[in-house]
Formats: sequence, structure tokens, C-alpha cells
Amino acid sequence: MKVWFVTPEAVPLAKTGGLGDVCGALPSALEKLGANVSVVMPWYSSIDGKKIDSLSLSLGSENFTVIMGKTQLSGVDVHLVGYPPYYHRQELYGEGNSAYPDNDRRFMLLSRAAIAWGMKTGMPDLFHCHDWFTAMVPMYLNTDSTVPHRPSVFTVHNLQYQGVFPASSYGLTGLSWDRFNPAEVEYYGQLNLMKTGLVYADKITTVSPTYSREIQTSKFGEGLENILRRRSSNLEGILNGIDDEIWNPQKDVYLEKSEKFSRSDLSGKKKLKETLLETYSLESDEEEPLIGMVSRLAGQKGIDLLLESSDELMKLPGNWLILGTGEKRLEAGLKKWEEKYPERVRVILDFNEKIAHRIVAGSDIYCMPSRFEPCGLNQMYSFQYGTVPVVHSTGGLADTVEDGETGFVFDTYLSDNLIECFKRAINTCREEPEGWNGMVKLGMEKDFSWKNSAAKYYDLYRRLLEE
Ligand code: ADP
Repeated sequence: MKVWFVTPEAVPLAKTGGLGDVCGALPSALEKLGANVSVVMPWYSSIDGKKIDSLSLSLGSENFTVIMGKTQLSGVDVHLVGYPPYYHRQELYGEGNSAYPDNDRRFMLLSRAAIAWGMKTGMPDLFHCHDWFTAMVPMYLNTDSTVPHRPSVFTVHNLQYQGVFPASSYGLTGLSWDRFNPAEVEYYGQLNLMKTGLVYADKITTVSPTYSREIQTSKFGEGLENILRRRSSNLEGILNGIDDEIWNPQKDVYLEKSEKFSRSDLSGKKKLKETLLETYSLESDEEEPLIGMVSRLAGQKGIDLLLESSDELMKLPGNWLILGTGEKRLEAGLKKWEEKYPERVRVILDFNEKIAHRIVAGSDIYCMPSRFEPCGLNQMYSFQYGTVPVVHSTGGLADTVEDGETGFVFDTYLSDNLIECFKRAINTCREEPEGWNGMVKLGMEKDFSWKNSAAKYYDLYRRLLEE
């Protein structure tokens, strides 16, 4: 079973979020089950690779010569699509809160190159594409008569980002304009690449079962609920796994030797917490809970709700340590909270893998009040480290956190509910050590490794190839 992942990011080569984590870990988990997986992705300037060939391609009437390179990722072959004017940039998708204006070209080129490379070197049995960046792959496979048909799986990591471009961008596809209609790729007069993937992929997956149901409603469907309902018999949710070699309290490379810990000996976690409180000059009452958060600062992540609740939260004991970057208004809001309570709130505006690991590992409570959450990884990372999550009941958070068992969950997205939930969490942490330790240990026992989820993808591929 030869499968090609087409993706804009894969850890450790390139990452902006969970999509990168998934595409970095799932291929090798599938290989362990017997699939032969390769990754096709842009050759960003940060990636070391070996040049092996070139390809001549066109997008509409524009011609391109791309350099194809090769590298490896946990034993998996990675085919790199090299075109420096498009991929040698400071960021992956945009700078300073604005997307690169030529993202249509940048990612249509990736899709075109993935297919052309298959045709030149041997097509895979199946393409697995990720988010709107790669949505042209299923469309080419189904509509371009020069391309041999292969089945495709299209995974929606986040429906909010859809890749919407002016109608004129459709000209870059080189395909007949007959398809530019509301039942296929058009969305209110524009080209919508997420919709394109949803229309043409043979199977659609989302990254948690609950999210796969939520997105078929107008509340979470981001305007695409009708097409998702239309395709519901080919839509399923498969929970993301985590890389438990990287996110592992016994092996974590970002923890000092004396800070590493295990379920049977949590003393390293205590030491790490002390170090964090000291490093970040937080009121160093070690007995009070440390509440951590690592997040893209986007509306989705519930930062508004947190800020709305911040004064009330300060009436409860505990210190807050927050790492994130993103929307300027949210960065400013968090900094204001910190200025108001400098001894108890530290906000680090950075994207930093090491600090992320240390916060997740050293906190008592992890804060994840997302408005919606396709899967969410940090609540699962938190379980690994005995950090108890406080979450809104949505998407993958609803699928992974059990209220009062492994974490604390609030139902309706309201400030009062968030505050009440933190009250319960903080009280349990301070007043009921036995109950708390039970929750910590139960979380640490959970198995969220890729093994189970990879088996579900493998089974999906098998069914698709047998159809
Ligand atoms: P999303 O993909 O929506 O951002 P996920 O929870 O699925 O959310 O994955 C986010 C990933 O990005 C996690 O691995 C998280 O630790 C990481 N991350 C988010 N913000 C930062 C940051 N500021 N520094 C380091 N890692 C971050």
C-alpha cells in the first residue's frame, strides 16, 4: 500500500500548529502497520535536502520549473518541492497577521508538483491530503483527463481556514470553467479551496469524532455545512494521536535530568514547577496551583473568554504562565492582564518549543477554553505529564477529557461557566490531594499514542482501495 501525504508542514521540518505535528508523526505510525508512506511538501529554506531532479509544470498559462529534492523524516521519505520565489520566505503562510497574497499560486504549485512527480516516478496507490493547501490534488485526480485516477483522503484539520481566493485564481488550475459553480468549487463568486477538497476527495476525515458531527451544523460549519452534510456518508472523525517519544516526561529533551519524571515518581515535576516560578518571577508560593497555557493566540482558542474572566479568576488562588503568539489584540489583552497582576501572571509572546514543553510539563492545571477545537493536542500532552486540563466541551476536547475523572469540563461557552470550572479545579488541587493525585495518575495512564488512530487510517485506506 503506497500512500503519499501531501502537506504544507510536517514536524520537525516545518510547523505552525497541530497539522505539522500530525504529518510528522502519522506517516511513521502507518509504516509500522505495513503501509509504505512518503511525504510531499514545499522545500522551505529551513529544510536541508538533496536535489535529485526537476519538473516542468504549468498553472494555467504560467510555466514553472521546480526542483525536486529529498530528505527523511523518522525513516519516512520526504519529497521536497523546490521553488525558492514561493517557498523561501520568513514564515509559512504570511507575516504580521496577513496571509501572503500569492498563497493560491504557492499551494496550487505544491498540488500540481505532487501529481506530476507521481506521474514521473510512479503514482502512489492513494493520496492523503491535508487542509485547503492541498485540496487541488483530489480535484486534479478526478477531473484532469491527463492524470491517472487514484483515490484520495482529505483531512480537515481546521475548517475555519478555507483558502478563499478571487474567481480569477481558478484560471491557475488550467481546468474547465464548467466546474466553477456553487455545487463544486465556487463559493459566493470566489474560489474556495477547502470546499474543493470536500467536493472531490473520495473520503473526508476530521481530527476528532465530535468535530466531524459539529461541522455539519450551521454553528460550526463555517458556511460549508451543507456540502459536509451532503458528503456525510464519506466523512468520519479519527482522533489525532500524539508523539509519545517527544512528549514524554521520562525522555523529554527540554527537561533537565533532575526534572524528568514518571507516574511513580513525580518529584521532577515539582522541581520543574519551582524552577518555572522562579524563572518567571511568579509569586513563589509553591503550594498554590500553577496554571499553564500554550496556544496560538486566535479567537478560536478562547482567549477572549479568558480575558473576560480574568479579574474573577484572580480572586482564586494560583499563578498563570502563558506562552503564545498571534492576533495583536489578544497579545495586547494578555499583556494588560499581566501588567495588572505582575506577581501572578506571566505572558510570554513567543513561539518556543522548549518553553512549550516546560510549561505543559511543570504546570498543575492546563487551560484550554477553545470556542471550537478540531482535536487539540495540548490537552493530550498535558495528560502525559500529569497536568490536569480545564477545557470547554467541544470537538476533540469533548472526546478526550472526562469531567471530574481526568480533567474539568464546562459546557456552555460563557465566562461564568469557565470561572466555575476553574473554581472546581483549583479547589480540588488545593483541598483534595488524594482525589487530585488520582486524576493526575489516571491522565498519565491514558494511551493517546498514534497506534490506535493510525490503525483507523490504515483501515480507511484499505476500504477505499477495495471499493
Ligand atoms: P492548533 O493546530 O489549532 O494550533 P493544536 O492543539 O492542535 O492547535 O496544536 C498546537 C501545537 O502547536 C501544539 O504542539 C502546541 O504545543 C504548539 N504551539 C502553539 N503555540 C505555541 C507556541 N507559542 N510555542 C510553541 N509551541 C506552540
